[in-house]
Amino acid sequence: MNPFRQGMKTMMSAVLPRERWLTRGPDTATGIALTFDDGPHPEYTPRLLDELQKFQIRATFFVVGEAVERFPRLAKRIIAEGHTLGGHTYTHSEPTETSARKLMDEVRRSLDLIEDLTLQRLSLFRPPKGKLSLAKTIGMWKLQQTIVLWNCDPRDYRADAVQGIQPWVQDYRPERGDIVLLHDTHPHCIAAIEPIVQRVADQGLGDFQTIDQWLSLNKRIARSESDELLLETSSVGAVHDAK
Ligand SMILES: [Zn+2]
Repeated sequence: MNPFRQGMKTMMSAVLPRERWLTRGPDTATGIALTFDDGPHPEYTPRLLDELQKFQIRATFFVVGEAVERFPRLAKRIIAEGHTLGGHTYTHSEPTETSARKLMDEVRRSLDLIEDLTLQRLSLFRPPKGKLSLAKTIGMWKLQQTIVLWNCDPRDYRADAVQGIQPWVQDYRPERGDIVLLHDTHPHCIAAIEPIVQRVADQGLGDFQTIDQWLSLNKRIARSESDELLLETSSVGAVHDAK
């Protein structure tokens, strides 16, 4: 993401309620969030899940509907092992060739598919390449999606086959609330887990958190009970704990 776009997105993160738009975690975060896009992948996702389990890390996976359709057991395993699922469209269509209407259709299709499979209606959404127009952003909010971007990008999809993202990890100084973008359709993220754990410990940070842990408790109560309750909590300002 270029610095201007990153700056714009960070600013939006500061002015919009956290339930609408996240580029970083809240100030109260005790650790960082690892996020994995584009999967599930039949080879790398199981190996990654084994590695996360080894270090007792919970992460957030932004899955592609088509891949979930092909590998449903992997999506179920992600949930069964305590991770959070978010959506990343149905076909990972190129943003510049996708209208707002088409994006909404893709996201609806993916939400329905994943709900049928897992009984979970996803509410976290990451746009492919982090690109969204105003119409697409509003469309995602109409579908009650929280838009989740990132502030740390090791560019694992471009990484050297031998070194992977180790040079990035060596220079990484984690800060509370970091959202790290990785892809479980590439092998590099697997070898990076152990050194990232070390960096987090070196900085004295608490742990790894999932994106939904960073959303307010009020929203979860509201989602599970009723819109009426959401209005009540909103009126006392608790929901609009902006970040
Ligand atoms: Zn992607």
